[in-house]
Amino acid sequence: MPIELSRPVPGRIKQIVIKQIVIKHTPAHQWFVAIISETPDTPEPTTGTRAVGIDLNLENFSTDTEGKVFPHPHNVRKAAKRLRRAQRRMSKKVLGSRNRRKQRIRVARIHEAVENRRNDFLHTWSRYYVDHYDLIALEHLNIKPMVESLDAKLRGRSRSILDAAWYKAREFIRYKAANAGRYVHLVDPAYTTQDCFLCGHREKKDLAQRTHYCPVCGYTVPRDLNAAQNILKRAAVG
Ligand SMILES: [Zn+2]
Repeated sequence: MPIELSRPVPGRIKQIVIKQIVIKHTPAHQWFVAIISETPDTPEPTTGTRAVGIDLNLENFSTDTEGKVFPHPHNVRKAAKRLRRAQRRMSKKVLGSRNRRKQRIRVARIHEAVENRRNDFLHTWSRYYVDHYDLIALEHLNIKPMVESLDAKLRGRSRSILDAAWYKAREFIRYKAANAGRYVHLVDPAYTTQDCFLCGHREKKDLAQRTHYCPVCGYTVPRDLNAAQNILKRAAVG
């Protein structure tokens, strides 16, 4: 049966021991094959004890303490829109009809496309951090103030899509870090946006305020960078 390899099976052919093959048949009638292999254990070299704090936020997918920004993946949002349209179309078809069944398969197929694109993005994202840092600090949950979810672009459903992506991002980075011998520190998310990184002064911000300006010490940086710095500081403190 011809297959499409998403990536080469790791390791040199002679050293590979294929331990298991998992075949999955999805509701959209696509077939996936997972090849589980064993390669000689080669620990990845350390990066030289570099540490990074990452803020997962609404404006961009993430901002880190080095100022690196990953924008929200555009193709995921586009596919999510297509998914909603297909779901609406399905709900208008007569229950139990042939057309409804066909539409259900179409919905399942788009759903899988959304998942695949998001996973691709999250693999690239988490791989970047695990390859570049030994200590990675993240918030253990995103309890962003409710006012932030009122942002027009991110109301309701899109917000729950984001929550799912954030949750998955943590899971991806944790298992990759564990495999590479890196350390992931999940910190308390309370007030990471409001506290001043330099002096600790706490001041409320609304979402429109994209810059952190501290009236006490004058520290002025992009809002999400200040949050990332607080996240890293919390990981360093304990
Ligand atoms: Zn300050």
